[in-house]
Amino acid sequence: MGARHPPRSLRSLRGRAAGRRVSTHPAPPFDAWAWLQACNETALANLDPRAWVAPLRERRLAALLNVAQRDSPLYRRRWGGARTLADLEPVSKTELMQGFDDWATDRAITREGAEALLADPASLSDAWLGRYLVWSSSGTSGEPGIFVQDAASLAAYDAIDSLRLRGPVHAPGLWGMGRTFAYVGATGGHFAGVASVERLRRLAWAPWAPRVQVLSVQTPLPALAAALQAMSPQVLVTYPSCAVALAALQQAGDLHLRLDELWLGGEQLSAAQRQQLGQTFACPVRNNYGASECYSIACACALGRLHLNDDWVLLETLDRQGRPVAPGETAHTVALTNLANRTQPLLRYVLTDRVRYLTHPCACGSHFPAIEVQGRADDTLVLPAAGGRKAVLLPLALESVIEEAGGVTQFQLLQLSAKSLELRLAPAAPGTPGVADPAAAHARCAAALDAFLRAHGAQGVHITRGRQAPCRDARSGKLRRVIGLQDGPSEPPQQTAAGHRARRST
Ligand SMILES: [Zn+2]
Repeated sequence: MGARHPPRSLRSLRGRAAGRRVSTHPAPPFDAWAWLQACNETALANLDPRAWVAPLRERRLAALLNVAQRDSPLYRRRWGGARTLADLEPVSKTELMQGFDDWATDRAITREGAEALLADPASLSDAWLGRYLVWSSSGTSGEPGIFVQDAASLAAYDAIDSLRLRGPVHAPGLWGMGRTFAYVGATGGHFAGVASVERLRRLAWAPWAPRVQVLSVQTPLPALAAALQAMSPQVLVTYPSCAVALAALQQAGDLHLRLDELWLGGEQLSAAQRQQLGQTFACPVRNNYGASECYSIACACALGRLHLNDDWVLLETLDRQGRPVAPGETAHTVALTNLANRTQPLLRYVLTDRVRYLTHPCACGSHFPAIEVQGRADDTLVLPAAGGRKAVLLPLALESVIEEAGGVTQFQLLQLSAKSLELRLAPAAPGTPGVADPAAAHARCAAALDAFLRAHGAQGVHITRGRQAPCRDARSGKLRRVIGLQDGPSEPPQQTAAGHRARRST
């Protein structure tokens, strides 16, 4: 789902610390009382949504508004004469990042301090200032975001994962005890997913706790498959595009995973993909919609519909002018209010997701509102390899190579022919994100891509520099960053990438 969010959720389980480093780093944040309270309240809302959801939501909103107005200089200024949340102007990531030191309700939280933590790979999942988890988004919308989670918000995400994402009954392996979880995701930074997994591993202590292993999505597919086969996980957590590529190997008899569950997030999951994955792996497919800003916005039910966790999250669907749209209509943007995090409040925070509230109740019987999210729809590229074979390149892996090695976030990679790729970079313009020196940036990206393609076995692929800026899809309005051959080269309207939000949240 453009939804971006990958698989995050290992958190709710306790991972065995097999192989973890012995470290002097502060243990990840965890508050047993907050965890019990979040689980208890989430369970009550599950049991009787009509009785519990609205009171819980109102209580949490009142507490959030109170602490934000009292302790956040940024929100105190913005609040002005507003009387209710609806009177508050929506806030952008750019505004929050520019006012970072005034944003949080704890004055010890500074951008300088957070950036210092994020610059140290060894500090992944460390409790910052003794009590916070910090992660960053990769900045597909132009600027990376830095998000600080307190123990209470982590407890809420844990509770949602355990009690909603996995469904009311998730035997075998209640809480994942004794099972092996494989996480395949972006590992090149303090992203929400990998930070969550690392937190899980470090918090684990019981011998019956699940084993959690992490693999980079940049691993060449054959090596990834071999590693997974050796690991024999019961639960695989990854992006839809990665699961689909692995399913093709499973169907061909080159992979023999026996999964109990498949957890997905971070990209669009189509109904056809969901069905194919469920059949191929013969297990339930769990899907969620989350973001770096709020890890657990909605969870898919057994029918594949996303249900908003509206006891923990407010999600307003808005048109281009910021006015509410009617249920059933697709929003231009959404305003997110995260009721779980009182340390770094997000009140009417703008996400460029195209969300629609469904007007009919879901056949699953859930009372949580059903939504549709038009999410990321980047392509997996298939390129020629030695011996007539094919090299399969996942979109997230290609994107992270370009981002990390090239230092850019605004780009578009198009496959023009079997052996030809074109890379388009957004030029710098006043007030917009872009590339200051396109020639140098392209050279860095092309070199990194070339090395990456060779490592995956691709041969004879030529990468050219696109002369036009990345363009949004004319139909969906979304910026697709990797476009495969099946869609042909696109020559749509001239619109600079102002992109989509970071999906590497997980
Ligand atoms: Zn449903």
